[in-house]
Parts: sequence; structure tokens; C-alpha cells
Amino acid sequence: MNGVTSVMEETRAYERRVVGDLGTAGAGGTLLVCCGIHGNEPAGVLASRRVFERLGKDGVEMAGRFIAIAGNLAALNERRRFVDRDLNRMWMREDVAAVRRSGRPSCSEERELLEIHAVLDPLLETEVERLVFLDLHSASAEGPPFCCLGDTLPNRKIAFALGLPAILGLEETIDGGLLEYLNNRGCRAVGIEGGQHGDPRTVDRLEAAIWITLATMGFVDEREVEAVPAARQLLVEAVRGVPRVVEILVRHSISEEDAFRMEPGFGNFHQVEADQVLARDRGGEVRAELGGRLLLPLYQGQGNDGYFLGRDVLPFWLGVSRWLRRLRLQWTLRLLPGVSRDPHDPSALLVDPRIARFQVTNLFHLFGYRRCRPRDEHLVFTRRLDRPPRPVR
Ligand SMILES: [Zn+2]
Repeated sequence: MNGVTSVMEETRAYERRVVGDLGTAGAGGTLLVCCGIHGNEPAGVLASRRVFERLGKDGVEMAGRFIAIAGNLAALNERRRFVDRDLNRMWMREDVAAVRRSGRPSCSEERELLEIHAVLDPLLETEVERLVFLDLHSASAEGPPFCCLGDTLPNRKIAFALGLPAILGLEETIDGGLLEYLNNRGCRAVGIEGGQHGDPRTVDRLEAAIWITLATMGFVDEREVEAVPAARQLLVEAVRGVPRVVEILVRHSISEEDAFRMEPGFGNFHQVEADQVLARDRGGEVRAELGGRLLLPLYQGQGNDGYFLGRDVLPFWLGVSRWLRRLRLQWTLRLLPGVSRDPHDPSALLVDPRIARFQVTNLFHLFGYRRCRPRDEHLVFTRRLDRPPRPVR
């Protein structure tokens, strides 16, 4: 029996939004897990079910609340990424507000969004500062598991505890992810790619990530719950030989008309040369924009991301960036030529690409300014704040 059938056979119908809900928040806080926001990625649901079953069977008293929700129920049952629209590209704050105001979903995913928000509401109301969010995914390509995060110090704490390679800047290249939505609301949030869709090891790794996070948050004592050390061991072995931290520099976005096809044989973390042929589309060969690590090459199904390219980050630079941020030295960036403050948004910086030097981007990354969007003649760089301002009601 191959991996694909074993995962799929285990799969019961996906009927309930809440996969499980155990414990009370109290002083410990809440761990919220979302699984299967892409319907062709059921591994997270299976992983969460296993953790709930084990916690129930062993009668573990948790010092906090663990709740898991299924993301795209309709798509999970149809075993495809989405029905009408990618549910993980619909969480721009204004768009969410508009769907909620209308109250009438205009497609399958808007219905899912409204139902998910009904679960989120009470958590965002009372728990936001003590809420940790894990977003569980799997990928179409083969490769070791990894995690991605908005580059803030509180997120780093949760992510680095997993012992998985951390990808910085991945979610900043994507608009409308649930991870970013919750991060911007003030939660700590980490996304996890467990491995290939349908591979039973993917379920094991996602389960391990949940156990480790339960321990990191102090919900379970790892000297008493043996699943935790076993989980750490499992992930250590799964990521042997993979760099600790990679930062994303290129997102190769595609549309359906591009007829994009990856060349065979690429997997996550493959080292590629600049100009190497990675894929083909209707324009001919698609060559690597730069040399570095390949991530999330698209091998099947729906989606707008062809692949990502990044480079390894040495631990030394992570330390430097931590100190620079603690010392709040980000104001020095405005002294660089071609860099100015955005008059509309005090947390953003404007870069005039005709004046600024290439290295500006590297400096910006050290301070966590990883989101870059063009506006008129400028590039607007923003970063996520370690502690977002309290929302105005
Ligand atoms: Zn996914």
C-alpha cells in the first residue's frame, strides 16, 4: 500500500468545523490549530484528531485550552484545494469585513470564512494576547518539513522551539493568508508544512509539531507526557541536513493561462543555480531568478505560486537582528539615501529605487521589514510589529 491510499483511507467525512476542543484557557492561554484550509491537505486534521484522542485516553490535565478547527470543509470532502476560491487568500482585513457585513456568502469559500470567523470571534475578543495559532499544511513536492512565520520576535520563539527549519518572508509574499490575518490581530502565528500530501509521515510530523507547541506553551509537562520527547526526536530526524533558517527572496507567481509546469525532480530545499531551468510555461523555459534554495515547487493542482527561491541565513545574523530590534534602532534606516518615512503610515518606509542601494533590502530584513509592495515610483516596506497596537473597536 502506498502512502497516498493510507492517508486517504483513514479519512472519515469532514463534517464538523471544530475537530476538538479541550481544556480551559485560564492563565495558560489558548492554542488554536487550523487544519485543511486547503482541502487537498487533510493531514493536519488527522494529526489533530490523534492528539485529541491521545490526550483523552491518557486523561492529561492541560494547563490551557487546545482547540483545532477544520479549514475548508467542502473542499476537504471533495479532496481538492478549493471549490470556488483559495480560502487562504481571502483574509485581507477589508475583504473579511465586507463579507461579514453582507452576511450572505457569494461562494463556497465565503461560507467557510464566515463559519471560521464565528469560532475566531470569542477568541479574538478575550484571548488575543495569549493566543498561539498554528496553520497546518502539506505540499505537492517531496521534502522535509518546515515552518514559516511573520518575522517578529514572539513568533520566532514559538517557531524556533519546533526544531524545524524556519522560512522567513514566505508569508509576506502572499496576500490574504489566515496566518497573517491573525498575526495582524495580535496573535503569535506559525505555519507548518509537514511534507508531501498523502505521505503518512506528513501526519506524524504535524502531530509532532502540535505536541511540541503544547509543551512550549506549558500546557503539558514533557517529563510526564512521553509523546513530547518522541515528537522532538521525530522532527530532529526529519530535518537532518537542512539549514536552520532560510529567507525568501523570490516568489514566482503564476496564473492558469501560463500553463506552468515544473521540471521533474525538484523538492523543497533543493539548491539551484541562477539561470537554471526550473519549469516551462507558454513563454518557454522558466529560469531561476537567482541561485539559492527552492521551496514549494508546484507539481499538481490549483494555485498561484509556481515556486519560491530563498537563501540560507546564518544564526549570527539572527542574533544581530534580535539585538537591533531590542535596541529599537529601526529609526536609523531613515538616514539611508533614498529612504523616507511613509506620511500615510508611520510603521512603513518608502524607498526610492532610483537612489537606494541594493543592500538596503538586506538591512530592512534585519529589522523585520520583509513586506515590499510597489506604490507610484516607490517601494513601500512594512513589517509586522512584535506587539501590534490594540485594535480600535
Ligand atoms: Zn496549504
